[in-house]
Amino acid sequence: MNKPLILVVEDDTPVRNLMVTALKTNDYRYLVAPDGKTAVMEASSHNPDIVLLDLGLPDMDGVEVIGTIRSWSNMPIIVISARSEDSDKIMALDAGADDYLTKPFSVEELLARLRATQRRLAYMAKESQSGSSVFVNGKLQVDYAGGCAYLDGQELHLTPMEYKLLCLLSRNVGKVLTHTYITQNIWGRSWDNDVASLRVFMATLRKKLEAGDGSPQYIQTHIGVGYRMIKAE
Ligand code: CA
Repeated sequence: MNKPLILVVEDDTPVRNLMVTALKTNDYRYLVAPDGKTAVMEASSHNPDIVLLDLGLPDMDGVEVIGTIRSWSNMPIIVISARSEDSDKIMALDAGADDYLTKPFSVEELLARLRATQRRLAYMAKESQSGSSVFVNGKLQVDYAGGCAYLDGQELHLTPMEYKLLCLLSRNVGKVLTHTYITQNIWGRSWDNDVASLRVFMATLRKKLEAGDGSPQYIQTHIGVGYRMIKAE
């Protein structure tokens, strides 16, 4: 199998070198781009497996780069930002980024995100080949055609809202979904009190999914940003 090709978009040379070294020593192939224009060009001509994208670029905003790439490709984009403000992450995620890392980050963290993205890609590829309508993630199963879900073989008793949320999360497994994205999908709008209700529904759903000791955590909370369903290894 080919080594995965990673496009590193970063104008800060020391940070870029750090990422490149980590990629080289961990059996990845890589391309680099110091600005947004080069990033778009490299992405379109080499079709990388994953893009690592700094949001603060000298020539254009990283969010603009995401929008451009998303106009023709679903390639995974992991945003890397020095800005710790949630609003930047949210804008990037709503523009189509899959995940984010906040600077400063460790090499281990970076590699973990890449592995998680690769697992998701592998799962998606298998899924689209089999054409199955059953989602499987560890002990969790969602039968989209049957409209029901199982945990460890036991049917889960979910309210229609919880089931809808579970489907949305599982269909986007591995991706961070923002509050706005989720409420738009569920209610077709995003008011402040929708986010508050979402929190309540998510809490009850999680309780049903994570009952019992030692059961894995399926739903990750990103405070101030949104939620993600984790793909079990
Ligand atoms: Ca930068």
